[in-house]
Amino acid sequence: MPAVPIVVVGSSNTDMIVKAGRIPRPGETVLGGEFAMAAGGKGANQAVAAVRAGGHVIFIGRVGRDPLGEAAIAGLAAAGVDVTHLARDAARPSGVALIVVDAAGENSIAVASGANAAVLPSDVRKASWAFASARLALLQLEVPLEAVEAAAGLAAGRGIPVILNPAPARKLPASLLRRIAILTPNETEAGLLTGVAVRDDASAARAARALRKRGPKTVIVTLGARGAFVAGSDFEGPVPGFKVTAVDTTAAGDVFNGALAVAVGEGRPLVAAVRFAHAAAALSTLRLGAQPSAPRRTDIDKFLRGRGREASHG
Ligand code: ADP
Repeated sequence: MPAVPIVVVGSSNTDMIVKAGRIPRPGETVLGGEFAMAAGGKGANQAVAAVRAGGHVIFIGRVGRDPLGEAAIAGLAAAGVDVTHLARDAARPSGVALIVVDAAGENSIAVASGANAAVLPSDVRKASWAFASARLALLQLEVPLEAVEAAAGLAAGRGIPVILNPAPARKLPASLLRRIAILTPNETEAGLLTGVAVRDDASAARAARALRKRGPKTVIVTLGARGAFVAGSDFEGPVPGFKVTAVDTTAAGDVFNGALAVAVGEGRPLVAAVRFAHAAAALSTLRLGAQPSAPRRTDIDKFLRGRGREASHG
């Protein structure tokens, strides 16, 4: 199957992670931690996940003119992402997330968006040819809303569907929601967008129906290890996830969205596309880190074949 052409407009960060005994209180210093640095940012994570799952990704975004930005560009290029439209911003530093993780895996994160906050509608329009050749556009909310709206507008003009992962959670204008083919909030984001406290399938269904009324043809509320609640024009119901022994669920949602974009772009029916995304996301929880944990297509296919056999025997 030829690689599905996808445009991703979004953020690129460097995650600086300290594993410490506990998260320091204000004014306190905690010694004895272990340090790791990893490529992150929802846009970049989803771009890499989509490439590994079988996509050809053009990434539109900004990093700073600094060593972290150069490393981010090199990392994305090495992963196979087209970085022609990943600009170097002369005025702002590259995006950084400072993460402290305690012994129980609880974390505390401070993000300096830097150059991500300067992604402009003109950055998106400069890459308008990318929308001409793409099968779909994949967007999140870690860059300014104006850039997200410009991307959704270009996609609409070209008649290509938009998947919007509304993360981090924020209220969205009606004009943007009307242009979305598939909206993929997690429980918290679905709650913030609708006012419905999402706890189970019944509340997820209520939130998904409310969101569909505002424009998106399909709403997929992801429910962590439980899977997702899916509401589309031909199907409404839960699509369970895969049981695995998760080691690190960081970026599971990003891997889900990257893989979903590929499956939808390949023309898979909705439920099959969600199962493909569940498989990729479940596999990603078996490895540490955001971008390194995104599984390859061969491993996703193998996992699905294995789990399919289990299901038919069980
Ligand atoms: P986010 O990471 O954005 O909060 P979720 O926690 O809802 O999103 O997870 C997104 C998807 O990742 C789920 O729909 C599921 O496919 C997969 N996933 C997350 N956690 C697990 C887990 N513990 N085991 C298996 N799959 C998981």
